[in-house]
Amino acid sequence: MNKPNVWLAASPEQKQEIMTVADNYMSFVSLAKTERRFVKSAIQLAEGFGYKNINDYVENNLPLKPQDKVYYNMMDKAVVLFHVGSAPVSQGMNILGAHIDSPRLDVKPHPIYEKDGICLLDTHYYGGIKKYQWVTVPLALYGVVFLKDGTHIDVAIGDHDEDEVFIVTDLLVHLSHERMTKPADKVIEGEQLNALFGSIPAAGVEKDPVKANILALLKDHYGIEEEDFLSAELELVPLGKARTCGLDRSMVVAYGQDDKVCAYTCLLAQLETSDETIERTSACLLVDKEEVGSMGATGMQSRFFENQVAELMNCLGQYNELNVRRALSNSYMLSCDVAAANDPNYSEASSPNHNMADFGCGVSIMKYVGSRGKHGSNDASAEFLAKLRQILDDDKIVWQMGELGKVDQGGGGTIAYILANYGMQVVDCGVPLMDMHAPYEVSSKADIYSALQVNKCFLKNMK
Ligand SMILES: [Zn+2]
Repeated sequence: MNKPNVWLAASPEQKQEIMTVADNYMSFVSLAKTERRFVKSAIQLAEGFGYKNINDYVENNLPLKPQDKVYYNMMDKAVVLFHVGSAPVSQGMNILGAHIDSPRLDVKPHPIYEKDGICLLDTHYYGGIKKYQWVTVPLALYGVVFLKDGTHIDVAIGDHDEDEVFIVTDLLVHLSHERMTKPADKVIEGEQLNALFGSIPAAGVEKDPVKANILALLKDHYGIEEEDFLSAELELVPLGKARTCGLDRSMVVAYGQDDKVCAYTCLLAQLETSDETIERTSACLLVDKEEVGSMGATGMQSRFFENQVAELMNCLGQYNELNVRRALSNSYMLSCDVAAANDPNYSEASSPNHNMADFGCGVSIMKYVGSRGKHGSNDASAEFLAKLRQILDDDKIVWQMGELGKVDQGGGGTIAYILANYGMQVVDCGVPLMDMHAPYEVSSKADIYSALQVNKCFLKNMK
């Protein structure tokens, strides 16, 4: 079976559109590197498309009606958008879901210490990383610090050329004779992921003078005391903007494409279909904490989505417990999370016989993910896949079917199984990446375009 290729199928106009979609994506993702920044940018964009905060309706007891568009901001770290259809919500929704957290280095609660005249910032890595990839990479620092009186200080260091940056050093090769014999998972260990934070000693200070100088700067620039790190969320992420890759300009190199490439194409599909009259309610669900098991109030295992479906139906005069359950179980969902692309440098780990996603062949629909015998996988139903094939092929969209890799090489999970717990039809569907979870990940512009087309088609045509 020959796989269709997006580039070969595209008209000259479509090729231009592929590049434009990628340009807009790159601008968005260059700013929205953390979940908080993603939520902020997503809401700004949604408001431009006429989306209103659902809390204004809930708190003031205002009614909603079909074709209204609302969003719910979950603690600034997750967001849900609804476009109300003309049919009762209990008939089910078309849901696009993705996650907006990405692997990174989180700053510890007691992060600042001095050793050998250098001030360091101690981190605890977040998500699954190859630790050796995160040294010698310039890092930006983003996040929030909350003071005891509730004052909130935003930290964003690294957006501007003149901003300072941070880095975790590696041992010089000249002295690495012993270290180079260690296995890859030991060559850099978690407690070595300490970023350089300063090196000027404060005059007249005997104990930890460099740290004293850094603390004085923090007080001066941000009004932060050392103990304020106890109520902070600060993330070190790879520096720099998303960039076009390849002499043919066909690919994107950027931090956090897992899963912001899917989150962005879900968001855009939801927004760009918002001026149409729709029958089934559409929802776009962008959640946090997928990389650490979807736990916590802002992760998919939290009930906030179900609660907001109830609030939405209440504002529509359609609420009762049974109707909410029906709305969820009658829904369809694309669980949009990145796929592993066949990487010619490491094809020994790829699934043979066209079962691996290839760059340029469109978004990868994955019947199952999981590991060791599909363990932990949602495993979408053949009936649902047939419906999806039909609507995508009707719209002449190029897509491919893939699995995560060769059997028993490893595996991974998504949020699919959590939504499937409601009894709804869910399938995994995502942009293939090379270099997944590395500081900089690679995607194909053609596949980003395909994801956007697939998402829009699903919202409009899945019944
Ligand atoms: Zn991931």
